[in-house]
Amino acid sequence: MAPSTLPPGQPVGRPNVPAGNVVGRPSPRPTGEPNATVLVVEDEPAIATAIAQRLTAEGWRVEVARDGLSGVDAALRLRPDVVVLDVMLPGIDGLEVTRRIQAEHPMPILMLTARDDETDMIIGLGVGADDYMTKPFSMRELVARLKALLRRVDRAAQVASSPVAQPPIEVGDVTIDQAQRRVYRAGDEVHLTPTEFELLVMLASSPKTVLTREKLLAEVWDWADASGTRTVDSHIKALRRKLGADLIRTVHGVGYAFEPTA
Ligand code: CA
Repeated sequence: MAPSTLPPGQPVGRPNVPAGNVVGRPSPRPTGEPNATVLVVEDEPAIATAIAQRLTAEGWRVEVARDGLSGVDAALRLRPDVVVLDVMLPGIDGLEVTRRIQAEHPMPILMLTARDDETDMIIGLGVGADDYMTKPFSMRELVARLKALLRRVDRAAQVASSPVAQPPIEVGDVTIDQAQRRVYRAGDEVHLTPTEFELLVMLASSPKTVLTREKLLAEVWDWADASGTRTVDSHIKALRRKLGADLIRTVHGVGYAFEPTA
């Protein structure tokens, strides 16, 4: 029997690992802040200042960015509860800002436009803002819309964290997974903004039933105001563009019905 030819083992010393230089520090940002953080992206100083002052008076934490690129940076760094975003900006415009933010970290966006036809054009592009206001606007209305938007986000978060999972809604080849907040058409996922999602759930929960613009405004946007019917129309356009034109029927002068033709 050959004795083991293994050489006397070298001591199996542990490498001496220096400790204590890689301890990650948690973010200093407090959690559970009671007040909303709002990012305002607006290049006109008078408007930016007026908005910032009004929102600060609401008790919100406000940061202002003056051009598109710094707007994207601030949005991704701050992770604000909501963004007020002007469309016409130096550098990259509000549409590109929205695309970049939503691609990285989706968040609610209220877009400011110069004219109604500009709003229509933007909506036609389906950029993915949650609400639109045309300049000039009243600060009171801006605050009301932002509050409604924040309530909507809260509600969505509550639904998502609810222990009682809501069943998926299936109508035709559309599947709405309410727990995951995902939407599929014919098996393909369709990406919707939080507002588009809520509007779709509202419509698809009562298929073949006409829902008035006023009801949709009250239920989805939490506010009722004749000027808001354009907002409903614009989001319907976005849903049709993303999901297909054949799902939602317009009942002229009344509202909309979810009615897949398949
Ligand atoms: Ca501007």
